[in-house]
Amino acid sequence: MTLAIAYSEQMKGYDFGPGHPFRSDRYTRFMDLLREKVESSKFEVVDPRHATDEELLLVHHRVYIEFLQTESKGVWLPDNRFLSPDTPLQPGMEKAAKLIVGATLTAAEIVWKGRFAHAVGVGGGLHHAKRSYGAGFCIYNDVAVCVRNLTENHGLERILVIDTDAHAGDGTCQIFYQDPRVLFIDIHQDPRTLYPGTGFAHEIGEGEGLGFTVNIPLPPGASDDAYEYVIDEIFAPLAEEFAPQIIIRNGGSDPHFADELTDLGLTLKGLRMVVAKVGEVAERVCNGKVVDLIGSGYNQAVLPFGWLALVSGLAKLDLQLVEPFLFSLRTDHRLAETREIVKAVKDNLKPCWRCFAK
Ligand SMILES: [Zn+2]
Repeated sequence: MTLAIAYSEQMKGYDFGPGHPFRSDRYTRFMDLLREKVESSKFEVVDPRHATDEELLLVHHRVYIEFLQTESKGVWLPDNRFLSPDTPLQPGMEKAAKLIVGATLTAAEIVWKGRFAHAVGVGGGLHHAKRSYGAGFCIYNDVAVCVRNLTENHGLERILVIDTDAHAGDGTCQIFYQDPRVLFIDIHQDPRTLYPGTGFAHEIGEGEGLGFTVNIPLPPGASDDAYEYVIDEIFAPLAEEFAPQIIIRNGGSDPHFADELTDLGLTLKGLRMVVAKVGEVAERVCNGKVVDLIGSGYNQAVLPFGWLALVSGLAKLDLQLVEPFLFSLRTDHRLAETREIVKAVKDNLKPCWRCFAK
């Protein structure tokens, strides 16, 4: 057994209500498909714990946590400075969010301690949450809490976070912007064309963290070949030079070409390729230690297949991936523009990294 899936049915409480693009049936639809397509001997579902307040406090402010806990009881406070209107807290959500953060923590601990070669945190990658502000369907930033748990409680000194969600991970970016222990590489749709409107190539960290934030904004329609180019040209050499102790990848199916909130161009094969490539690099630099966090996706028909494609890339499962929609773009769509962006990203980072100094 090499693959752990940190998941609990209680995650269904992380649901923004009717009409919202983020509903919790995503978790059960994925788990149903996983159980249908993958032999039960190939994976183990691991029951996650709830993150504790102490763990949340590694990233979030106490006043914010208390606000969420009060509102989650259905006591609506008059002054809501803490949540964006796109992230309407529902009763009971805070507890479910702690379970999702707990699943991420559980997955990371499993991988770090070597209990399983691969671990997936279902629902993870809530990368828009800031220290004291919930936005973009994210109230706690599980990625950041997980990183801080590894540095503060497990003594890690170098962690690489690769965010392949279609949206820029503005919360994660902000939290680690000055921290050289965390190399944050974020591949996303051009922020001029998509929420949250940040994540430009010139945003590369500051102070001691200068060079440890890497934003790669891709043009709408960026295809499988464009992603492969970015991973080979930016992610792989940086990972080799940084030599992380563990890699955390986050992002669900929203870079898929049929996603309803975004305009990128990955296919199911492309989603699998991205994770498989991250895994290959991890084999070379950190004994294959990868934690995979899968939560986003806004085309209901694609979502479970997209998540399965990601998992199959991580655990090298031999699955046939059948697109639920016909694909008409060329697989090298927007590759030429992507090459230009990669060049600009490397130029910005030249003073910070030997691999780009040539
Ligand atoms: Zn997203």
